[in-house]
Amino acid sequence: MSLRVRLTLQYSALTGGILLIFGGLIFALVNGLLYTQVDNALLSTYNEMVTGWRVAPDGAINPKITPKFNLSENIYYQFWDTHDLLRFTSPGVRLLGGSLDQAGLQAGHNIFRDVYAAVGHLRVLSVPLEAGERPIGTLQIAADMGIVDTTRNALLFGIVVTFLASMVFAASVAWLSTGRALAPLGAITASALKISRADDLSRRIPNPVPGDDEVGQLIDAFNDTLGRLEQLFTSQQRFLADVSHELRTPLTVIKGNVNLMRRIGQADDESLSSIEEEADRLTRLVGDLLLEAQAETGRLPLNFAPLEMDTLLLEVFKEMRVLARDRLTVKLTEIDQIQVNGDRDRLKQVLINLISNAIKYTPNGGEVYLSLSRVGDTARIIVRDTGPGIPSEDLPHIFERFYRAEKSRTRSKVGGFGLGLSIAFWIVNNHGGKIEVDSAEGKGTTFCIYLPIYNPPAMPPVTD
Ligand code: ADP
Repeated sequence: MSLRVRLTLQYSALTGGILLIFGGLIFALVNGLLYTQVDNALLSTYNEMVTGWRVAPDGAINPKITPKFNLSENIYYQFWDTHDLLRFTSPGVRLLGGSLDQAGLQAGHNIFRDVYAAVGHLRVLSVPLEAGERPIGTLQIAADMGIVDTTRNALLFGIVVTFLASMVFAASVAWLSTGRALAPLGAITASALKISRADDLSRRIPNPVPGDDEVGQLIDAFNDTLGRLEQLFTSQQRFLADVSHELRTPLTVIKGNVNLMRRIGQADDESLSSIEEEADRLTRLVGDLLLEAQAETGRLPLNFAPLEMDTLLLEVFKEMRVLARDRLTVKLTEIDQIQVNGDRDRLKQVLINLISNAIKYTPNGGEVYLSLSRVGDTARIIVRDTGPGIPSEDLPHIFERFYRAEKSRTRSKVGGFGLGLSIAFWIVNNHGGKIEVDSAEGKGTTFCIYLPIYNPPAMPPVTD
């Protein structure tokens, strides 16, 4: 069953239920009021009738109908004595050929009953009368319920007609309004199908009123997801192309050098170095890919232990100075003694990734500054360079997997695979820290890492 039909049915059922309860209450109330009125009229008729009645010693009654007692056509009465003889009656009732209410005669106490006789629906009050302690008979007074029934039926008819009309109206309104509200969902489904059929992630679902209501928000969210998917897809495609290229170049170089050595019949030093360099590059690429895959699937284990961050930074600093050679200067400007709780190898990798990037991208003669200092209860490591900076359009993406700024991609000899920063980001995050970047084109780049400082647990006090 479609959502539209379901909503329409639910809405109509709810409206119908409310109307039924409401109509039932009105009917019960009016019915009760009408009966109360009739019963009150019967009681006051009774009171007027018996006022001033005389009972002879033999039990005979002298009915005295006072002038103000004006029995209408709609009120009937009968008096039956204890021997079930009809002693007196209002005109015409004799035609009934019996008691107004036989069961009322037997009741032996005051009773109101509905009787359906030949003359129609009657409401009958039966009252047993006594003279002193002696029962003398039963007086029955009846009212014609014709008008009451007509009123009740008219009310019932009105309620049923109103109920049916309201149901039709409610169902139509629900059908139309849910149709209008759900129409964009149809458009979303159609667009989603088009997108998946055409394999075209660049399409977006048109949103007439962005974010205005739930459906608008759904469209926005869907378009955002498509945007993310498109970005991921593009970067993966780019990555595949890059990786194939990166793999082919060293393999071609290796093969060329091997052929050369075979031709000249001896191992040539230059060729061997070139082969080694390319093999290192391949190893790095495979290592990065493996790490990224492990981090992605949450299977990269971290071995936490208290760690002297200053010692680690010093170690990396020395290694990186060798990497920079005379090309540029690497300086350690500040180093505090700080302990963190972390995985030594992984944190070393973060430092190497950031510092080697700074060295890689900073042109000859530039400078790279490193520092480690305590900021509140965090250790802050800064890697700053005087390189070309990162264009503002690339800055929000550099921590994404496989992302490489356009300039670095074209200078493929310098650039890596776009995995270094995303791995660093993952590692720092999983140490409860954060990594920030500040960069502007032509003004160099600064990376800041914040890691929680390790506080050794307090030793228990020594007792004698
Ligand atoms: P890559 O292996 O390409 O260096 P990274 O993930 O380490 O990948 O860096 C992503 C991109 O960020 C790089 O391609 C480069 O464009 C940019 N980048 C990173 N560090 C620097 C830096 N110090 N100076 C300029 N650009 C940088």
